[in-house]
Amino acid sequence: MTQALDTAIAQHPKTQTFTALRCRECGETYDLGAKHVCEDVCFGPLEVAYDYDAIRRQVTRQTIEAGPKSIWRYKEFLPVVGDNPIDVGTGMTPLLQANRLARRLGLKRLYIKNDAVNMPTLSFKDRVVSVALTRARELGFTTVSCASTGNLANSTAAIAANAGLDCCVFIPADLEAGKVLGTLIYGPTVMAVEGNYDQVNRLCSEVANTQGWGFVNINLRPYYSEGSKTLGYEVAEQLGWQLPDHIVAPLASGSLYTKIYKGFQEFIKVGLVDDKPVRFSGAQAEGCSPIAQAFHEGRDFINPVKPSTIAKSIAIGNPADGIYALDIARKTNGNIAAVSDPEIVEGMKLLAETEGIFTETAGGTTIAVLKKLVESGKIDPEETTVAYITGNGLKTQEAVQSYVGEPLHIEPKLDSFERALERSRTLDRLDWQQVIV
Ligand SMILES: *Cc1c(COP(=O)(O)O)cnc(C)c1O
Ligand SMILES: [Zn+2]
Repeated sequence: MTQALDTAIAQHPKTQTFTALRCRECGETYDLGAKHVCEDVCFGPLEVAYDYDAIRRQVTRQTIEAGPKSIWRYKEFLPVVGDNPIDVGTGMTPLLQANRLARRLGLKRLYIKNDAVNMPTLSFKDRVVSVALTRARELGFTTVSCASTGNLANSTAAIAANAGLDCCVFIPADLEAGKVLGTLIYGPTVMAVEGNYDQVNRLCSEVANTQGWGFVNINLRPYYSEGSKTLGYEVAEQLGWQLPDHIVAPLASGSLYTKIYKGFQEFIKVGLVDDKPVRFSGAQAEGCSPIAQAFHEGRDFINPVKPSTIAKSIAIGNPADGIYALDIARKTNGNIAAVSDPEIVEGMKLLAETEGIFTETAGGTTIAVLKKLVESGKIDPEETTVAYITGNGLKTQEAVQSYVGEPLHIEPKLDSFERALERSRTLDRLDWQQVIV
């Protein structure tokens, strides 16, 4: 493994911008291998460190704009060595100005970052997996794996197939049918574990030690998590090289949220955008809200919980980056809030009916929290706000099945159609909305 790495570094000495793995707690540094904890000193999490002077010398707004229409336009900010990353078109998803939803909520400028249409598997996880598997290949791994709440399994299986890597993924046995099928189709080995995500994750830590596989969110986690920074970069670039005033993002392990923050900070550091305060707000489901609970109780530690919510993709009861998410919410004057399952469904319907975007339960959580924060005065109507929609509703159809109504069944005859149309006009659409609140 180290030899493959040395060779790779030797081939591209000039573009190497990442320098070490560094402990977030004690600052100890490690070589750029497959490890994620500070095993020599404090067992804190490791993070990729960069040479920002080197990045500043290599990157301008123009070089980025001339790059590929994918996350790899930011390759100098990502922990891969060569010029040949796994590029399956991940990233550069639309940033939509959401005028109808904004009006409904009472905001002036609201944007939706729409990773419901990210490629190839319709969630933001394609970002982190594209980076992790590129790095896995550089480190010499031939089998890749993950502990997943659903989307990560889809993404790891698909991108491993594209890269010709062997793949074995672990999921909780009770996942949504769409997420299971959307993994199996790519032909990986799928282990459906009788237990919740936190138990799956613990099992995978043991497997990582015994099998020598590259687990994207365990031993490759420092590289994997860097992929989420692109959600920050793209929003800054798509806003015309400016930062927003306020962002709202969902929290599972808390990684995505903390890396959007890191992405903004890096763009400021290398001079790609002007410095300004951005408020960071986070969204959880009440049925799994350990970070929101700690935020409200003023704690700087997380009490793990047992998840029970329809928002399975963000149901992590013991979030690895929870304390860092808390810190960011507090120091940016943001909030972390939780919403109930009925509110999540309502959030999914609200986004679909106002903006034509069908998101999954995690996106419903984000929209419901956005609404709650506006209503309680915690987002100012004047703030330019970005809501991160991270997954696609076609994968979690059972969550809304009984709330969307039924089509009108008719004969292939004009009078049958006209009678049905008459009936539908008496059926006030608002009735459907009241069913779910
Ligand atoms: C995994 C996931 C998240 C959040 O992940 P973090 O662990 O907090 O980085 C958010 N939304 C969706 C749809 C996801 O699949
Ligand atoms: Zn340490």
